Amino acid sequence: MLYYNLSTYFRNKYGKRLKKICIDGGFTCPNRDGRCGTGGCIFCGERGSGEHIDRSGGIDEQVKRVLSQAGEDELFVAYFQNFTNTYAAPEVLRERYSAALIDERIRVLDIGTRPDCIDEEICKVISEFMEKREVWVELGLQTASDKTAAIINRGYKRECFERAMELLEKYRIPAVVHLMVGLPEEGDREIAETCEYLSRFKLFGVKIHSVYVMAGTRLAEMLDSGDYKVQTEEDFIRRAAYIITHIPESTVIHRLTGDCPEGALLAPSWGKDKHKLIDGISRRLAENGARQGSEFLAEP
Ligand code: SF4
Repeated sequence: MLYYNLSTYFRNKYGKRLKKICIDGGFTCPNRDGRCGTGGCIFCGERGSGEHIDRSGGIDEQVKRVLSQAGEDELFVAYFQNFTNTYAAPEVLRERYSAALIDERIRVLDIGTRPDCIDEEICKVISEFMEKREVWVELGLQTASDKTAAIINRGYKRECFERAMELLEKYRIPAVVHLMVGLPEEGDREIAETCEYLSRFKLFGVKIHSVYVMAGTRLAEMLDSGDYKVQTEEDFIRRAAYIITHIPESTVIHRLTGDCPEGALLAPSWGKDKHKLIDGISRRLAENGARQGSEFLAEP
């Protein structure tokens, strides 16, 4: 096995693949509403990810729509995807997560959020759900560099990520960290520094995204003005393979490419063929006699 992907994790744990139900939980984002910033991260679209989700009818309706088409033996992950899904009062979080867990076939509660929206109270609410389901919290770190974080308008510094990870670890909440490959002014050196930084933490999972330039974003303006240069396909494959070899073999790789809504992708054109990218990464690992964790030196 070249790397430990999510399908393998599901098969080992549940005997089958789980499907994702992507949910728009009706949250906003502190990096858009002015609490810590406005305008959002430069690559973020108007819907804060999950542009494909039909959010009509509330959370339970979104879940029911999928379950009504599903077989009795199918299993699911309820994935709160859009914006910042811990950005509300504890009682609101409790109510919204509960609204998604309406069927025993939903085995995992997956919460996408930001490190500055993780605190003790929120961890306590999330812990309550761990008694009933497997729970993951996804954090959009993207890069360990505070310099790049300022360029992409991420709205928090890495010490904030460290505090959030400390809390998640205290409450034994599994963390999935998002990394982006191809950010402005980042190259091989910055990817290596991010891997080195991450080696300090205990990660349940990693999501690797290639940067996509979506129409209507600040990044699209930077591309237009020449302030952003798109990485090549070869660069992405080499860097993604580097990350895989530099994370522990026990960390689950939840994804290896990003998703851009149909029709909104401005660049890179090679980003559309996800299978080709994944094949390219596997080939690179195999040709170098490498695999996940083969260059990882220190277990955290
Ligand atoms: S934190 Fe997430 S939702 Fe908020 S602006 Fe950044 S990418 Fe968008």
